[in-house]
Amino acid sequence: MLGQMSHQPLLISYQLRFADRFHHNIEVISRSVEGPIDRSSWGNVARRSRKLANALVAMGVKAGDRVATLAWNNNRHLELYFAVSGIGAVLHTVNPRLPLDQLRYIVDHAEDGVLFFDNTFVKLAQYIASQQLPVKRYVAMTDAANLPPDTHLPELTDYESLIAPHSEEFEWPDFDENTASSLCYTSGTSGNPKGVLYSHRSTVLHSYAAAMVDSLGICAGDVTLPVVPMFHVNAWGVPYAAAMVGSKLVLPGPGMDGRSLLELIESEKVTSLLGVPTVWMGLLTHMKSVGYTMTHVKKVTIGGAACPPSMIEAFEQQHGARVIHAWGMTETSPIGTVNTLLPKHAGLSAEAQMAVKRKQGRPLYGVDLRLVDDDHHIVPHDGETSGHLQIRGPWVASSYFRRDRDESHDGEWFYTGDIATIDADSYMQITDRSKDVIKSGGEWISSIDLENAAMGYPGVAQAAAIGVAHPKWQERPLLIVVKQPGADVTAEEIQAYLTTKLAKWWLPDAVAFIDALPLGATGKVLKRQLREQFADYKLPT
Ligand code: ADP
Repeated sequence: MLGQMSHQPLLISYQLRFADRFHHNIEVISRSVEGPIDRSSWGNVARRSRKLANALVAMGVKAGDRVATLAWNNNRHLELYFAVSGIGAVLHTVNPRLPLDQLRYIVDHAEDGVLFFDNTFVKLAQYIASQQLPVKRYVAMTDAANLPPDTHLPELTDYESLIAPHSEEFEWPDFDENTASSLCYTSGTSGNPKGVLYSHRSTVLHSYAAAMVDSLGICAGDVTLPVVPMFHVNAWGVPYAAAMVGSKLVLPGPGMDGRSLLELIESEKVTSLLGVPTVWMGLLTHMKSVGYTMTHVKKVTIGGAACPPSMIEAFEQQHGARVIHAWGMTETSPIGTVNTLLPKHAGLSAEAQMAVKRKQGRPLYGVDLRLVDDDHHIVPHDGETSGHLQIRGPWVASSYFRRDRDESHDGEWFYTGDIATIDADSYMQITDRSKDVIKSGGEWISSIDLENAAMGYPGVAQAAAIGVAHPKWQERPLLIVVKQPGADVTAEEIQAYLTTKLAKWWLPDAVAFIDALPLGATGKVLKRQLREQFADYKLPT
């Protein structure tokens, strides 16, 4: 027997329609590429998205067509999020930090017909135009006065002139909720990037999940600033969830440095921040250098890479903001696990609480997790035994765009490539990427634990542990450290400190210093590049 409830499909356009009807006046602020702050509102975003939808249709964009963006977090990008998906086309958010060969590959692979770009990326647009790719039209996300001159880009228009002649009336069409809505390629540390094709259904369900209290808790009571880029994994779904719940949104544009972020956080009274650890490192360093304590921020969501306990401490103890540590992937939309404490943790000491908070968190309803060993046997959730992490659920990819078979799916479970433990309370903890594990004498050493411990030592800004060849143990850990500006730490001091924190056989055989760690397109440390750089490193015997 079937239920007798309405068949309204789960479509992204309904989120915008709802925001327009019920959160009309809630502000949406963004820093423009030109510099000034652009003040909009959900009502205005909805109105301009309808004009844009008319413009896209007039341009010949049809259901299923891919429309690419090379853009920061800003209002026009937000309008593209809703208008492109709303007409049934697919928004392909391109990561401008990708190496050029990968950029070329994905624009070609996705067959993007139109490219919208911020003026910052005019050179990348010109590169794309020079490569005989499918892109036919270019739109600079600015107004006529700021249209870059002499670009020689075919059919170039500025965004404001493009939408100006079009009507504010547009009836968002209904279609199957499984229709593709957006496309994001993984940064592909080896081989070509792979496209993850989200659907309206997966996006809307993920939005509900993002808004849950035990999740990112996106809500009307918060002023939300996603530093996590809209060009990667839909800014963790924040734009959609914010439209749904009516959160004031503050978009930082190109200003991702500590000083620009702090200015916006304070002037807009931001209460909720979201981003990767490298961004927070910049903000914390800046605030320390100017002796500033944040006044309004209540929560900082940190994910994309392991959040060191020293960062949790800095936000919680110095700035009075709660840290929400989360784990996810491009393939999981991205939210998989989120760390919130249980009632049983309330009375624990700060140290015992930190042992919980440093973990990547518990699965949200909607996703299912398990661990398997090398032979695909399930391993226990005892907090000790580590295994390969697998995940399934309605916002987890089932395959990659235009790729028939892939070893990372078995039809039901997605193989994350992460090594993790899950404890009796279901807190998952990542110990490593499987390709980054350090194997000493047949046993794994968690590079994340080593790095977290090292970053607890004053004067250490960042740390990365890699395995280096060793005649007896096959591999031993080398710790690579970036010092805090002006700090005068030595390898011996760091090693002495680590002996108080780690098991003896986990201790790095050597500590090397470096000016900056190599970062990939999503702000993560490129371990592969470090391993190449230190391939000939001779550990002391
Ligand atoms: P890419 O690097 O291709 O952009 P993703 O953004 O999809 O890939 O990154 C997903 C990976 O990032 C995860 O598989 C995991 O290794 C790592 N990651 C994400 N969040 C965390 C976290 N909180 N702690 C440790 N690692 C994390």
